[in-house]
Amino acid sequence: MRYISTRGKAPDLSFEEAMLTGLARDGGLYLPESIPTLSTAEIKALHGLSYEEAAFAIMRPFIGDTFTDAEFRALIAKAYEGFGHKARAPLVQLESGHFLLELFHGPTLAFKDFAMQLIGQMFQAALSRSGKRVTIVGATSGDTGSAAIEAFRGLDNVDVFILYPHGRVSEVQRRQMTTPSESNVHTLAMTGDFDDCQARVKDMFNDFDFRDSVSLAGVNSINWGRVLAQVVYYFTSAVSLGAPERKVSFTVPTGNFGDIFAGYIAKQMGLPIDRLVVATNQNDILHRCLTTSDYKPDGVVPSISPSMDIQVSSNFERALFEAYGREGAPVAQLMDELKAGGFSVSQGALQALQESYDSGRCSEEETSATIAKVLAESTELLCPHSAVGAKVASEHMQADTPMITLATAHPAKFPDAVEAASGIRPPLPARMSDLFERDERVTRVENDLAAIQALIKDRIRS
Ligand SMILES: *Cc1c(COP(=O)(O)O)cnc(C)c1O
Repeated sequence: MRYISTRGKAPDLSFEEAMLTGLARDGGLYLPESIPTLSTAEIKALHGLSYEEAAFAIMRPFIGDTFTDAEFRALIAKAYEGFGHKARAPLVQLESGHFLLELFHGPTLAFKDFAMQLIGQMFQAALSRSGKRVTIVGATSGDTGSAAIEAFRGLDNVDVFILYPHGRVSEVQRRQMTTPSESNVHTLAMTGDFDDCQARVKDMFNDFDFRDSVSLAGVNSINWGRVLAQVVYYFTSAVSLGAPERKVSFTVPTGNFGDIFAGYIAKQMGLPIDRLVVATNQNDILHRCLTTSDYKPDGVVPSISPSMDIQVSSNFERALFEAYGREGAPVAQLMDELKAGGFSVSQGALQALQESYDSGRCSEEETSATIAKVLAESTELLCPHSAVGAKVASEHMQADTPMITLATAHPAKFPDAVEAASGIRPPLPARMSDLFERDERVTRVENDLAAIQALIKDRIRS
């Protein structure tokens, strides 16, 4: 299995290389050269398997000879052992035909643990085999950073630097990033918003001297290994509702387009998914693009679902590559136009995108109202991101096709917004109830590439 860049100008890589690199050297993102499929019989055979067994069967065709079967099984087992729920990704019913996939039982209470815990294991296994070390640099709107730190803290061959927008993450998110005491963890609070943080990380990857001198590795949601790990729960949840005999639809609270793109991959692999619905908050650039063809960033407006406060949605590039018939040149052209202010997708590509994705937007008032409504009708307390999903899902339900909304974070990660909406302040699970007593450690930095690069070079262990 080889991996190709969405911009068509970087060398093909193996799974191991694509995972350890993150971003391609032509600025593109890696995708498998062809997407393996599971037969109807193979999907049926997932019935009754544990999450780990299903994960092995679904991901195995993508990893080539990077790990033996026994190694890969062991890595999967370790990745999910720290989750607070045996089922890993339990499905609960909200109302007739509408289900919630709880993806927040991992160590940092957001769905990003599913991918990050696994790539932490895979990085460690690959690096200890080769004796190499890497410097992981990532930008976060809150959840990626804590998930990455949790997955890589204390690992011998890795330093991890996380840039988050100063003052723009919730207190729980911040504390999850600033309280780990391991010396290979470096948390940087940067002046600016998430898109600024993400832009500086991209700059570092495009500075090849710097990139090579510190062995830069990316674990942001563009990392193919992360997308792959997220494919699994589309299968397990659909199968538990009757796939492959019965179609299901999904609604996904979306920011960087990684999670919903994993759903697209599941569908390409043969999972009978009817509709994939992109749910955005008031930062609705994806919804606007999918309905009008125009992708024109106009500034982030902070919301109560901050992990989706994004205008430059990095994995959308993968969807564009698919919509342009897997041609790198038009994608590279659009990305150049984006640097100059924005782009419009062609009519053909818009049609292709609309065949794959529906979309909807949820305002701040609707988000709060949905938290209250779902609590009253089902006893489930949603985080604001999951509420955005539930609201948009309710507008896309179709008779006879179950709708699964992805619950992307635990309500206790966003206690202020949840309390304001519902009157209930959700407590942290017992296993992390001392979070507010631990000491914090964080470095303030300006939005200044050279200064951040100097700090990284200074801090890494050689
Ligand atoms: C990251 C995140 C999202 C958005 O996921 P993408 O894969 O970036 O689209 C939604 N909700 C929560 C809670 C998140 O942490």
